[in-house]
Amino acid sequence: MKFFFPDSQDLVDPSFDFETEKRNDTRIRQRDDLYAHEVFKNPPYDGMLVSMAIVGGTNGSSGRYTLGQQRRFAVEGARAFLRLPKELKLMGDCGAFSYVKEPVPPVTVEQVARFYEEGGFDIGASVDHIILDYNADWDRSLPGIKAVSEDCERRQELTIELARDFQKLCRKDKVRFEPMGIAQGWSPKSYVRAVVALQKMGYEYIALGGLVPLKSSEILQVLEAVSPKLKPPTRLHLFGVTRLDHVKEFAQHSVVSFDSTSPLTQAFKEDRDNYYGRRRRYSAIRVPQVDINLKLKNRVLSGEVKQAEAFRLERECLDALRRFDRRRFPRRELIELLNEYQQLFGGTRNYSAEYEILLKDRPWEECRCAVCRELKIDVVIFRGAERNRRRGFHNVYVTYNRLKRIRARVA
Ligand SMILES: [Zn+2]
Repeated sequence: MKFFFPDSQDLVDPSFDFETEKRNDTRIRQRDDLYAHEVFKNPPYDGMLVSMAIVGGTNGSSGRYTLGQQRRFAVEGARAFLRLPKELKLMGDCGAFSYVKEPVPPVTVEQVARFYEEGGFDIGASVDHIILDYNADWDRSLPGIKAVSEDCERRQELTIELARDFQKLCRKDKVRFEPMGIAQGWSPKSYVRAVVALQKMGYEYIALGGLVPLKSSEILQVLEAVSPKLKPPTRLHLFGVTRLDHVKEFAQHSVVSFDSTSPLTQAFKEDRDNYYGRRRRYSAIRVPQVDINLKLKNRVLSGEVKQAEAFRLERECLDALRRFDRRRFPRRELIELLNEYQQLFGGTRNYSAEYEILLKDRPWEECRCAVCRELKIDVVIFRGAERNRRRGFHNVYVTYNRLKRIRARVA
């Protein structure tokens, strides 16, 4: 089971000083900043997934790359641009989430195939249109009563047609990447229908899309329906799914790969469980930046909070955290201080219980990854992109190592 990490230009600046929070003045982002596979001695994934929508954007959504980066990406190819080690695989897709609200995909089969070929991808997914509805009961609808919407059916039909055109084009142009067909569905039976159609077209690598919001039991339902229809050497990829508890079952249903960005985004987009420990997940410690926090700025302007007081408390919190790390500051007082600072921001959520567990366990001390070694307690501080993204990298590292242990047992 291979883990692909989706690229969305998440890099960290190695010149960033966590004590002073200053960077090297001469730093150039794309040249000097590091990808997760450059931060650790061994890359924490088996490959990267690059979406055309992230690079160049699609109609209606802009990408994550600047025009200069897009040019370099096109000239150098994806692998050189991402500085991806040669043993890692490069998978490409359209990034269908970016145009999910459009009536039809705003990209053509030709554009997408050219993007993969010029970028030097190993695997390239067909053009798809995501179906957001899922209901297994629609497989049991009574004769004459139609439960599934026309929009679902239209999206599936379109995705199948686009896959047919894509496969034809890839054969005609003798592309160097392996074409991967995408199946969209709304129920186990509808996924079967899509997969069977793709297999008939000659696809040997098929991705199941639209699974992100599904429960694990529903994903398994789909796989149980699909896998008996697969003929060797057909194998499956799951888009946007990290359910490590089910890797063994996934493997039994011919799933060979998945991708997910959630270990990274969990670090800074969620309210809790931001740091993956060995036995459990922990909420990171909020120490927002006084000078960029809008909520606080408004409270200062309205006279509710004195700015000097805010700066003083911010400094005190950071100092106390470092001293706590060196066992020179008591836990109780630290939590009180953090709460006092939190109240300044008008925060209503109380994290005391979660901080208590985190500070008692000190999980960053047991982790041997390069991020935790360098950052120490800073890795669990929710503050600014340099800390938050590194914590995300740590989560990716933990996820991959867990996957490797599972793989060793399954194989
Ligand atoms: Zn770590």
